[in-house]
Amino acid sequence: MLDCAIIGGGPAGLTAGLYTTRGGLQNVTLFEMGVPGGQITKSSEIENYPGFFDSSKTGLDFMDTWQKQCFHFGLKHEMKKVESIEKTGEYFNITLEGGEMVEAKTAIICTGAVPRRAGFNGEDAFYGRGVSTCATCDGFFYKDKPVTILGGGDTALEEAFFLSNICSDVYVVHRRDEFRAAPPTLDRAMRKENIHFITDSLIDEAYGDAMGLQGVKIKNLKTDEITDMSNTGLFVFVGQDVKNDVLKDKQGEFICKMNELGQVVVDLKMHTSVEGLFVAGDLRIDAPKQVVSAAGDGSIAALQVISYIQEQQ
Ligand SMILES: Cc1cc2nc3c(=O)[nH]c(=O)nc-3n(C[C@H](O)[C@H](O)[C@H](O)COP(=O)(O)OP(=O)(O)OC[C@H]3O[C@@H](n4cnc5c(N)ncnc54)[C@H](O)[C@@H]3O)c2cc1C
Repeated sequence: MLDCAIIGGGPAGLTAGLYTTRGGLQNVTLFEMGVPGGQITKSSEIENYPGFFDSSKTGLDFMDTWQKQCFHFGLKHEMKKVESIEKTGEYFNITLEGGEMVEAKTAIICTGAVPRRAGFNGEDAFYGRGVSTCATCDGFFYKDKPVTILGGGDTALEEAFFLSNICSDVYVVHRRDEFRAAPPTLDRAMRKENIHFITDSLIDEAYGDAMGLQGVKIKNLKTDEITDMSNTGLFVFVGQDVKNDVLKDKQGEFICKMNELGQVVVDLKMHTSVEGLFVAGDLRIDAPKQVVSAAGDGSIAALQVISYIQEQQ
């Protein structure tokens, strides 16, 4: 029986692991289906985490030291996907990929969010074959070639900047003529000579053949004019979906209270509506979607887990 099962190994989950183990819990396992680190590992740099001020370091470099520190104090790690969690009596039953079951006294869910699809023709057909949502993963495939980005938020412009250092030209397609991105992010992208903005427009179609994506058609929403952009990779950054599937029971109902966006309702101590179940990071309501706040949530949830277990004894 685990003292605590932590599901998801981004900033929230890793921090929860650090605080639970340093707080004296002996038997804590972090279930992470990939390499721990979370979304920030896709970032080309991070400059808003207090105490970390090195623009030469990527998000991957940044999270590398987190892993070393968090696992140093006894946190165990299983590189497995969690399918579901349910509370039976006092304890939680966690079902892992492949059907293995694990029992835990408490759980902290930190599964974060995933990139949303935009829904244009050809997006699914060429996803992973020229249509990407990860510049860090796929940018190098387009070294010295032009790429197109869809989106106008922080992620889109940060990724545009990242790609501009690898690719010959970056065309940012955005449906409005104003950007949601923070002013410094927008300013930095606008100052980069090889980033070009195509506003009031959307991706009409991604096309190609068995070899993969060959180009995209961009539609101007004001004039209906179609521009054919051939020989380009396409990166889609149009928002995120919270990863809340683990919280669904066999009937597909959520086991705890959620809001209309599928985010978990928590209080300031990261308690959910289920005793012993905590949620931290981008999965919760009103998450600022920042590393520093996800880490803060993780520490709060961990301290609550320690108190909860002490109260149960
Ligand atoms: C490109 C980019 C740039 C960013 N830049 C910044 C920045 O400069 N500053 C900043 O503060 N924030 C930035 N962010 C946001 C920041 O990365 C997130 O807010 C933060 O990572 C959220 O942490 P989290 O732990 O809640 O979730 P995540 O980081 O999303 O981690 C969730 C983890 O859970 C795992 N997981 C999901 N489901 C399961 C399952 N069923 N079983 C097992 N594991 C599972 C996932 O694999 C993932 O590793 C950026 C994000 C992106 C994408």
